[in-house]
Amino acid sequence: MATTTSLYEQYVLGNYGPPSCTLVRGEGVHVYDDSNRRLLDFGSGIAVTAIGHCHPHWVDALQKQTAQLGHISNLYAHESQGRLAEKLVKIAGPGRAFFCNSGAEANEALLKLARLHGRKLSDGQEGVRYKVITAENAFHGRTFGGMAATPQEKIQGGFRPMLEGFSHGKLNDLNSFASKIDAQTAAIMVETIQGEGGINSCTSEFLQGLRKLCDEHNLLLLIDEVQCGIGRTGQFFAYEESGIKPDAIGMAKGLAGGFPIGAVWIAEEHAGLFTPGSHGTTFGGGPLACTAALATLDVIEHEDLLSNVQQNSAPWIARLQTLIRSYPNLVDEVRGRGYMVGLVLKTDPRPIVTLLRDAGLVTIPAGGNVIRLLPPLIATEEDLQTATDILFKVLSGI
Ligand SMILES: *Cc1c(COP(=O)(O)O)cnc(C)c1O
Repeated sequence: MATTTSLYEQYVLGNYGPPSCTLVRGEGVHVYDDSNRRLLDFGSGIAVTAIGHCHPHWVDALQKQTAQLGHISNLYAHESQGRLAEKLVKIAGPGRAFFCNSGAEANEALLKLARLHGRKLSDGQEGVRYKVITAENAFHGRTFGGMAATPQEKIQGGFRPMLEGFSHGKLNDLNSFASKIDAQTAAIMVETIQGEGGINSCTSEFLQGLRKLCDEHNLLLLIDEVQCGIGRTGQFFAYEESGIKPDAIGMAKGLAGGFPIGAVWIAEEHAGLFTPGSHGTTFGGGPLACTAALATLDVIEHEDLLSNVQQNSAPWIARLQTLIRSYPNLVDEVRGRGYMVGLVLKTDPRPIVTLLRDAGLVTIPAGGNVIRLLPPLIATEEDLQTATDILFKVLSGI
């Protein structure tokens, strides 16, 4: 019988490179490989499995929904999309929700909202105000809109010409963003904490400054919470710390605990820009995805996972900071907040990610020589301790 990796080598497109190992099952904070070795999963499938693997409530809800109604399209209504939209609006504020299937698709909807907003400001004329400013080192997805919003050679290379109308400001440098605004600008879009870019956080002052700039120039403030949202920082949305009100929010990764979903929240005053027929998707907001999301949000609420993250993260990050003193030749900085932490290394993180996995800890490399630690929100103080112990052990052997 062919091994799984040999099937990948022969038949699966090479865009991800060869897979590093084969995983068979998951339970809580752990995954198990094909030799039944247990790994502590601090990658969470790239910040997706927010409530850990195969949470019984999530499994039960999905099993029931699968047996009841799997797919209907958006030509019809079903209960879970309505209830999920209500939940998101109760969390984010007065507005409307739209559902799709991925982070890139959520951001496409945000970019299309910017175009509609620009048209409205130009008395119905298109192509007058349409430009969007994003941040250096941002990551907003792999579609043509997402790529144009993502000023990184490794994302854009080979796919030019890019969609027109994007410029990029320096993160946490308000003047840099302000200098990019012209009469054609319609929106500013940022991640509250850059994930792929290497755990770079917007300061509260910067977000407040962007809000003011957007108000002064009639621009939409679009916040990409695809990776940092859904409780990862100990607040439901990472931007909440700054006290700002975005005009629209993109969500995806953690929202349905591992079932594919994307979502957009749009503030009430802009929600009417999308009129019937103006946007859509076949799969978006289906019964399975919305049920998985409702189950995920139930668990976050009932198990008080935001408090779990709030209580455990500061002491954990403080202990991680001691890696800098212990291994000054390897570790440069520890940054991030909540359960979204980056270890900035003085060397290529990828071989160390492999060593960590061999020692039983799953982590993810990011831009700027960073190892990302993205534990599920259910991770306990003890799980964090175990991960830190593995880090100390592996780094001491280098
Ligand atoms: C992952 C990610 C995306 C893209 O999401 P996909 O589901 O991979 O399309 C967009 N923005 C941010 C901040 C992300 O982390």
